Amino acid sequence: MSGPLLKVENLTKHYSLRGRFLEKSVPMVRAVEDVSFSVDAGETLCIVGESGCGKSTLARLLVQIVKPTRGRIVLAGTDMTAVDANALRILRRSMQMVFQDPYSSLNPRLTAERIITEPVENFQRLSGQQRRTLAADLLRKVGMSPEMMSRPPSEFSGGQRQRLGIARALALEPSLIIADEAVSALDVSVQAQILNLLADLQQQTKIALVFISHDLRVVEYIGHRVAVMYLGRIVELAKCESLFARPGHPYTEALIAAVPVPDPTRVRVEVVVEGEVPSPITPPSGCAFHPRCPLAAERCRIEVPALVTMADGRAVACHVRAPLGPADRAASNVPFPASTYG
Ligand code: ADP
Ligand code: MG
Repeated sequence: MSGPLLKVENLTKHYSLRGRFLEKSVPMVRAVEDVSFSVDAGETLCIVGESGCGKSTLARLLVQIVKPTRGRIVLAGTDMTAVDANALRILRRSMQMVFQDPYSSLNPRLTAERIITEPVENFQRLSGQQRRTLAADLLRKVGMSPEMMSRPPSEFSGGQRQRLGIARALALEPSLIIADEAVSALDVSVQAQILNLLADLQQQTKIALVFISHDLRVVEYIGHRVAVMYLGRIVELAKCESLFARPGHPYTEALIAAVPVPDPTRVRVEVVVEGEVPSPITPPSGCAFHPRCPLAAERCRIEVPALVTMADGRAVACHVRAPLGPADRAASNVPFPASTYG
């Protein structure tokens, strides 16, 4: 196969809020708006942004739990939005999801053995011996003892439960795992263990990861590239090192500045972005970040900025930082990268 493993084009999801009595127009939640990116085999793409910016909707769109309003999801060359139910069932095998809450995503009445082998049993019957062999193999892959297979989820710690969630996702040997806040409910030390496990598995199998998190420290630890979302749109997409070293979008800069710094000698900017995240039902005109942006110019109130690829390969959607066209760029009086805060 040539080209990226996953290619997402103009993916959009609007939820209509029906059932409001006698309302003339049905309000729409613009949860995901015109999102495009690609992921290569063996790569970790992180999706980061504040609560409500559309990360989980994007995850649900990718695994087709939710149907897109618009856009394409191309996996290994096949457009998943254009195939019939049977073809989709087969395609879905190569894309598995790991959820935030291992407590609610694992059936409490089943043993670990049943839980992690269930995805395979949805496709083929296994004998008792085959099931136990598969379960033992999967448990070893996630660093657990095969002896644990007869226990129910209640007998495992949070970290072990998340390992079971990963074992279950690995059962069908997917080429892509989508992890939505997969370590957010865990203690920091356990977070590191799970992130290391995912990185090791990726080394061994060249599996691709779409890793969704609101936590920039986690993203910096595990990401190869990072997409920053704001109100349903990607505002910056860059290699992890360059994003953290030189954030391009003023919103990325604000997010990074707000991360608690363990190093006491580093000065922390206290007030970063003012105001609340606006509602995705009535997003601001133009650039949705403009009401909170210290750089906002007149154009930002009117025109939605396109995601522009810069000379260093990063893409930024900002009229000021990444103006479209050489004439526009020359007219910009804010040098890139200039620090906006602090
Ligand atoms: P995140 O995971 O980044 O916190 P979500 O994708 O869960 O964000 O939500 C994005 C926006 O879409 C939010 O405003 C949320 O309230 C809205 N939303 C999510 N699911 C639905 C739904 N089924 N119906 C209506 N609105 C929804
Ligand atoms: Mg979410």
